[in-house]
Amino acid sequence: MAIKKIAVGGISTECSTYSPLYQNESDFESLQGQDLLDLINFPFDDYGIETYPIFFNKSVPGGPIERQYFAQIKDQFISEINALGKLDGILLLMHGAIYVEGIEDPEGEWIGAVRDIVGEDCIISISYDLHGQMTDKIIKNIDAFAAFKTAPHIDVKETYQRSALMLTQSIIENYRPYVVWSRIPILVSGEMSSTFVEPCKSIYQELDQYNQQNHILDCNLLVGYVWADTKRATASSVVTCTNPNSGSKVCEKIAKSYWNNRHNLKFDITYGNIEDALDWAKGDFSIIADSGDNPTAGGVGDRADILKAVLNKKLKNVLFAGIASKSAYDSIKVSNTFTIGGTFGGGGPSLKLKADSVYFKNKCAVVNISGSVIIISKLRRPFHYLQDFIDLNVNLKNYKILVVKSGYLSPELQSLSAPSYMALTNGSVNQDLIKLINNNRMKKIFPFQDFKDYTPKVSDGENLVNQ
Ligand SMILES: [Zn+2]
Repeated sequence: MAIKKIAVGGISTECSTYSPLYQNESDFESLQGQDLLDLINFPFDDYGIETYPIFFNKSVPGGPIERQYFAQIKDQFISEINALGKLDGILLLMHGAIYVEGIEDPEGEWIGAVRDIVGEDCIISISYDLHGQMTDKIIKNIDAFAAFKTAPHIDVKETYQRSALMLTQSIIENYRPYVVWSRIPILVSGEMSSTFVEPCKSIYQELDQYNQQNHILDCNLLVGYVWADTKRATASSVVTCTNPNSGSKVCEKIAKSYWNNRHNLKFDITYGNIEDALDWAKGDFSIIADSGDNPTAGGVGDRADILKAVLNKKLKNVLFAGIASKSAYDSIKVSNTFTIGGTFGGGGPSLKLKADSVYFKNKCAVVNISGSVIIISKLRRPFHYLQDFIDLNVNLKNYKILVVKSGYLSPELQSLSAPSYMALTNGSVNQDLIKLINNNRMKKIFPFQDFKDYTPKVSDGENLVNQ
């Protein structure tokens, strides 16, 4: 028997259509060769399947991907697949919330181009972020699908494993799964749909129960990505199955369950405007999330709105982790004055400041100013791990308030059990959804429009399955 051959690779990012900060090659980290094969303990070797790494390009979420870069990187991906000759399968690691101006469905184009080059016999299995969007074009071209089931995401590797296992099994046991999906006209932020609190906690637990049913391989609920003012942006249920009728029934149930709970999708954290947040943080150590500028959701990461308010109020012992600004970082290297905020085009105040003292570590300037500390990072990045602070010799115990650019807090910051507040700040990922501009989004979508009539329509990418 001929040795089976598969390839692994993909592209993953989240693009706020409200961000002016375009992404190109310099924003992406590329995992290749052995590093890509070592990403998880892929099951392929155990079955004697030869695995060929292509590349897996990932970036911190941001604005739209530059059109030319997207075309170039997609062409490169396709030509590397082409060079591998006949493949039995391919595992695509995707996110699902890419935006490229003028391209309605970037993942659909990418996956469609892969299908064109590998041919109809090759099994295509994909993994996705639950904040990704689905389309008929994607479903039509894939054979298996698995998305994260936790947000904040703590099951990334397990998800890669799920899609890798479905690929392996279908190749080894020689069958072809189906993927069916239904649009769900709901679009909320991840902060309103955390899988660790209700209603999503129970809805996601139901997915595991559906997975036990006959002919069902992998059930998913995609919350979608709310900061995409695009036609395809919506939630969806997606089911990989061995029988489309069985898959369709479960797909409908997931869609209805999410729909019926739409009015319960709420923030599970105290929230309000910046003034209220600073008034609230009067006691011991507490955390304020600057949610509209969260870079892990697509915020530009340099807004100084909260910094301005803290300086105006003359508050002390506040730690800002962090504010991204290459220009401020470079200028403070040569003098103690710098300008921060508003340089990425994403709005907000631009402050001219003078540092009392500063030190540099890990591409960051740790700046003392009026009794508070600003971590100015040379690159856009989150501060979600406790190690991020240790690496910079910053002791959180020395501060009254930690301001992070985040929506819901990362699991490690949550582990501090500090009182926390989500400031509904302006920015490319504004959590005050009703303020978002809707030029292109499909109507009707909850909560932008409130309506009662919805019946799931399950599709296999070409035809409706449940009619
Ligand atoms: Zn996500």
